[in-house]
Amino acid sequence: MKLIDKIFSVIFPHKCTFCRRAISYANARFICPECMESLPFIKGSTCARCSTPRQEGSMPICHVCRKFNHPYSGSFTPLLYEGTVRRALINYKFYNRENFSRSFGFLIADNVIKKGFPDIDFITFVPLSSESLKERGFNQSQLIAEKCGELLNLPVIATLKRINGTPKQSTLSDVERRKNAKKAFFATDEKLSGTALLIDDIYTTGSTMSHCATLLLKMGCSRVYIASVALRSKN
Ligand SMILES: [Zn+2]
Ligand SMILES: [Zn+2]
Repeated sequence: MKLIDKIFSVIFPHKCTFCRRAISYANARFICPECMESLPFIKGSTCARCSTPRQEGSMPICHVCRKFNHPYSGSFTPLLYEGTVRRALINYKFYNRENFSRSFGFLIADNVIKKGFPDIDFITFVPLSSESLKERGFNQSQLIAEKCGELLNLPVIATLKRINGTPKQSTLSDVERRKNAKKAFFATDEKLSGTALLIDDIYTTGSTMSHCATLLLKMGCSRVYIASVALRSKN
């Protein structure tokens, strides 16, 4: 390590996104080795569309994806929304920890590669309304998408819009979320083609992802994969 980096590492230590312990300046993913070992990674059999864990030998598509006919071709969601992951995502979104997008983008890109990196033409993200964007100062899904695009060498394109004044999905019940998603998001006139990877920060009921993926297919995409940092169990 250069002397100047050594000095900086003492004054401004790099910290692990999840446990906030100091880490080496060379650690580009901002995740310490202990957290890489202990984070709640989704393992074993999962739904082929949404990454929800399922029992070995059960149907390859979970009952929620079947019931709502979720239109995505697959999912890259590495973690469960619990413990330090939950805390990091809350701090990221509500306490201006924009830099956490580096770790989140890395975790998704790593998951895409581990799952065989299917043909993807571009990355896109769930939009915020202009009101929410002004309030927060950044779109949490866009920053993760940009980091992911850098790591996977894929273009990142803004494709969808969100209307001002519609309730936040996190404040609604499952049924309300599906109705609200249909009112909140809309397609632009842009014509798309090829395979998209649609990114959001957290996957909960799939109502946002499902509606946004449907819009991308209507705009001309042939296929849509989805990715989130963490899966939030509805139970
Ligand atoms: Zn850590
Ligand atoms: Zn599913």
